[in-house]
Amino acid sequence: MKKIIIIGAGIAGLSTGCYGQMNGYATRIFELHDKPGGLCTSWKRKGYTFDGCIEWTIGSKTGSDVNRIFAELGAAQGRRFIHHEVCHRIEGSNGRTLSVYTNIDQLERHMKELSPADSAAIGELCNVGRRLTPFVDLVDPSGLFEQIKMTFGMLPFIGILLKYGKIPAEAFAARFSDPFLRRALTAFADVNGGTGIPVAGLMYAPAAMHIRNGGYPLGGSLEFAQAIERRYLDLGGEMHYRSRVEKILVEADPAGRGDRAVGVRLADGSEHRADVVISAADGHATIFDMLEGRYVSGKIRGYYEKLPTFASWIQVSLGVARDLSKEAPRVSFWLDLPVKIAGQKIDRIDFRHFCMDPAMAPPGKSAVVVTFDSDHAYWKTLSQDPERYEAEKKKIAAIVIGALECRLPGISGQIEAVDVSTPMTVERYTGNWQGSQEGWRITTDTIMLMGIGMEKTLPGLTNFYMAGQWVEPGGGVSAAALSARRVIRMLCKKDRKDFCSTLPSAKNITQI
Ligand SMILES: Cc1cc2nc3c(=O)[nH]c(=O)nc-3n(C[C@H](O)[C@H](O)[C@H](O)COP(=O)(O)OP(=O)(O)OC[C@H]3O[C@@H](n4cnc5c(N)ncnc54)[C@H](O)[C@@H]3O)c2cc1C
Repeated sequence: MKKIIIIGAGIAGLSTGCYGQMNGYATRIFELHDKPGGLCTSWKRKGYTFDGCIEWTIGSKTGSDVNRIFAELGAAQGRRFIHHEVCHRIEGSNGRTLSVYTNIDQLERHMKELSPADSAAIGELCNVGRRLTPFVDLVDPSGLFEQIKMTFGMLPFIGILLKYGKIPAEAFAARFSDPFLRRALTAFADVNGGTGIPVAGLMYAPAAMHIRNGGYPLGGSLEFAQAIERRYLDLGGEMHYRSRVEKILVEADPAGRGDRAVGVRLADGSEHRADVVISAADGHATIFDMLEGRYVSGKIRGYYEKLPTFASWIQVSLGVARDLSKEAPRVSFWLDLPVKIAGQKIDRIDFRHFCMDPAMAPPGKSAVVVTFDSDHAYWKTLSQDPERYEAEKKKIAAIVIGALECRLPGISGQIEAVDVSTPMTVERYTGNWQGSQEGWRITTDTIMLMGIGMEKTLPGLTNFYMAGQWVEPGGGVSAAALSARRVIRMLCKKDRKDFCSTLPSAKNITQI
């Protein structure tokens, strides 16, 4: 039986382990943290659960292709996904509000009521969402026929990308004559992908939600990851926590094709051998540290030198003795007076609550999170001085609570738990490059890469693959899972065997 070592127990690493086991490989996962999930995580404080990840995921619709993948991974069965009616409420300072209905037809009617003069632009925007719906499910074709079918089926998608992948959302927003809609759409783009996201990227989430295939998984992100971990262990996989990989061991390939990966060396100095190594850890660390930059083409180096990544972020999590279930799951509002947070001027607060999920807070209370993109370098410098670092976190929590008071009067007296994470927290727990939250950002320059994909092997190195968000532009939990399936399929092909996948037995399913 061929042995595989997998680096990282995020969604990609866990899924790689599951598909490896299903296909007759003996897999071991080495993970630096003491729990699974990587970025897909949540944590408990004083009876509250603070979630750091999934707001929505493709694959929430029973019977969809990605849902079938989640089912193979043991994450879909027994789990309810919540499909909101309104996913985001954007409140203008003049009392005007954009409710982002997940039904695109309803959203279109609502936006046209807000600004009849912008009907043409609103119709065009909503049409992009509707036209994207057939392409929400990221399929993994199983054979040549399926591959050809998918390639032809994707042609209209390429058409949408060629037009709306080239128009930045901000530029599209500028077409609106109504200043509030202009501002609201820019805020929506900022929250859903950041600067430079093209219209086609922006309307991807609404498209998924419109067909009820972009829901929130009850139980939260860590529970979602733990379900895949349970599946992996049931399949006979071996898990090693607190096991940081420092080097990927390589030897000259006897077939004379450069080098081959033969195992890993951990931080404790121990060496572990395998026939194949798959890194589902941070891409930059894998290529430039674990492999010392020895197997890089100009193209791959170019990715890491030039492509934009999702920023890192500060997350202020609050346990609040107050029921916020009547609020939209995400609310954005502008401050009359901007505040300064980690050196940046902030004039808008975006808060989320998780009242739809009873696992997150005691009855009648709410877990609330407020996030801001933040500069990794700022925090790196600050973390050299632990006292100043801690003081800054406290200051930020106080500013955020003060800002929330404008929208939720009385909240400062209802806070029962406070937790602040920074880019350094992300880096410490996941090893992600500059604390990035989702790998490669989708912009007008990179959106085509999302369709074409990135290489999962490195030049000059055999028996080595990469899976996860650093080889799937745009990132996300569904992309991470799909990436794992693709890598094991590549391996099966190389080993001249048919790829297979199985479903877990009913007795191994936990009801959420
Ligand atoms: C705030 C936030 C919100 C998000 N919202 C959504 C959302 O709504 N929907 C969605 O689909 N996605 C969302 N994402 C993105 C999603 O979480 C990620 O794209 C996905 O989880 C990445 O999975 P991964 O396995 O590729 O990488 P990671 O989660 O980064 O996993 C890599 C793993 O490798 C481990 N590792 C790293 N280096 C080493 C080493 N040297 N040795 C051993 N182990 C190592 C890490 O500890 C980690 O466990 C969000 C992410 C964040 C942070």
